[in-house]
Amino acid sequence: MATDETTPFDRYRQRIDRPLWRLFGEYGTDRTRWLVVGLISNLLAQAASLFPPVVLGTAIDALFAGESEYALLLVPPAWIPTDPVAQFWFSAALIAGSFAATALFTWIYGVTANFFAHGVMHAVRADSFEKMLRLDAAFFDDKQTGEVMSILSNDSQNLELFLDNALMNGVRLIVMVLGIAAVLFALNWQLAIVTLVAIPLIVGFTVWFMRVIEPRYRARQSAMADFNTRIENGITGIILAKVTSSEAYEADRVRNASRGVFETTMSVLKLSYFYRPGMELLAGLSFVATFTVGGYWILFGAPAPFTGRLTVGTFVTFVFMTQRFVAPLAEVSNIVDQVQNAKVSASRVFGLADIPVRITDREDATRLNEPDGRVTYEDVCFSYPDLLTASNGDGAIHQTDGGVAITDEADSDDGYVIENVSFEADPGETVAFVGSTGAGKSTLCRLLLRLYDVDEGSVMVDGTDVRDLQLASVRRHVGYVSQDAFLFDGTIAENVRYGRFEESEKAVREAARAAKAHEFIEALPDGYDTRVGERGVKLSGGQRQRIAIARVVLQDPAILVLDEATSDVDTDTEQRIQSSLDALTADRTTFVVAHRLSTVIGADQILVLEDGTVVERGDHGTLRQRDGRYAELWGAQTGAQ
Ligand code: ADP
Repeated sequence: MATDETTPFDRYRQRIDRPLWRLFGEYGTDRTRWLVVGLISNLLAQAASLFPPVVLGTAIDALFAGESEYALLLVPPAWIPTDPVAQFWFSAALIAGSFAATALFTWIYGVTANFFAHGVMHAVRADSFEKMLRLDAAFFDDKQTGEVMSILSNDSQNLELFLDNALMNGVRLIVMVLGIAAVLFALNWQLAIVTLVAIPLIVGFTVWFMRVIEPRYRARQSAMADFNTRIENGITGIILAKVTSSEAYEADRVRNASRGVFETTMSVLKLSYFYRPGMELLAGLSFVATFTVGGYWILFGAPAPFTGRLTVGTFVTFVFMTQRFVAPLAEVSNIVDQVQNAKVSASRVFGLADIPVRITDREDATRLNEPDGRVTYEDVCFSYPDLLTASNGDGAIHQTDGGVAITDEADSDDGYVIENVSFEADPGETVAFVGSTGAGKSTLCRLLLRLYDVDEGSVMVDGTDVRDLQLASVRRHVGYVSQDAFLFDGTIAENVRYGRFEESEKAVREAARAAKAHEFIEALPDGYDTRVGERGVKLSGGQRQRIAIARVVLQDPAILVLDEATSDVDTDTEQRIQSSLDALTADRTTFVVAHRLSTVIGADQILVLEDGTVVERGDHGTLRQRDGRYAELWGAQTGAQ
């Protein structure tokens, strides 16, 4: 991962040290049983697999060549039969038993290691997604979706590989190398030195390999990321690509990105394919040395500087063992690679976990119960936090007990999007925000819903600052219909019921009737059970908006925010929705953002905004008579119609 910050995640990632330890600490401890059983079975499986060559060597010496007494490492002499025929069958049984034990323990460690690895990953995925849901809205302004997606898929996969593969192969490697070394030293320490002299070479070769392949790996990862971004963009923008006949252009961009992946992958593979044969060669060296020295020793006696006797059986055991340490050693590069990847991925996972959530309940927050609906904005100033450049200093983050942190994001510049806005809406009143695009109308609405918090001043409901109220209770009593009514893939009924999941079928229908949606829903082939498609694409904008309105009707909030709720419908539908909205807004405090001024004529107060400040306020009649900004807007619209 590059060290320069390219996303708001990076800042938190860079603070994580020992990410893998933290992974074990936070997620492993609940599943230690699986891990311990896995590690022990792995150890036993490897140890059992070393036994057959040792038995073979003994059998050769004691039974076939008759050179020495039948004696086995780790087996008490009392267990060994005295009769040679019985000894033969005893050897056969030991070899068969070793293979059976290896198979059994391999199965046990496979299953337990996977329970551990996949259990951890399940928890990591679920927690990461939950954390993502709690992140401040500001986070998603910079389009961090791709990042979060890659944490949930890519990084999870890397950690999974590490936990079930690298961890177990690492143990296998250590047991095999140490186990083999111990057995060989016990049998004949002098020949063991000859056999094991290749190991430092193998380690040196591996270290060299890791060093040269690392930059290639990094290049590949970044080519992969580029490719993913291109693909994501290409899919999201497919309609634009089609209508501008830019398919070839898009295809070229993706092809180039894909070629980048191909080239960097090949540059990694060219080197990787060099590694394994290299390892085989070094292991071959060990084989040749063992064979030459051992063979000479048997034929002509100990070559200088060696002393003592070497039996054929020991020699055979050595040759077998030499073969055994190649496979686990050849895994070293994979293991190191998986550990490196897992480190990066774990820091990405914990980077997400450590992002402070600013918009959350204060410890002493009170619950908003059945409010009257009085809404007050008092000297409100606000600017959108820029997560990339804002408060990069260390002192800005305070960890609290709950793991939630508060950032003192002192936005020193005065580039407020909302500046000194004050007004009060009495219960049941309708307040309209009008003004040109970018004036700050939607932003004012978002502050009431606490999608963002004010920088100065306060937004109050029934006289209490929304920051002192429990977040969920505020949102429970504020209904919100935005311009781009989003629907989840699912049925229409599910979408109307979203957020009020316990409501009955009947209530859903009534809400749809009130939102003037019932008729068109009934006309659909499956009625309320019609699936709306991804983001509701199978419905028109107006239909989606009416479903969104039905959802708010069902929510039955005391305060209503309609952010251009009728922007997407034709005049005819608009009028019908307007009449239903009139019924809906009658006894609720309502905020309306509307481009078409005809929809705000009846509002109790109209606030005309410009560059984040209120430039005029009053009702329609008063404002029209005044020769100001509103009159100008009104003139432009009615004149144009
Ligand atoms: P309106 O609803 O009146 O069209 P907005 O409230 O959407 O205006 O926008 C007010 C200003 O805030 C604009 O200058 C806009 O560019 C900026 N803005 C809106 N949303 C964001 C955001 N999520 N992040 C940063 N700036 C934003």
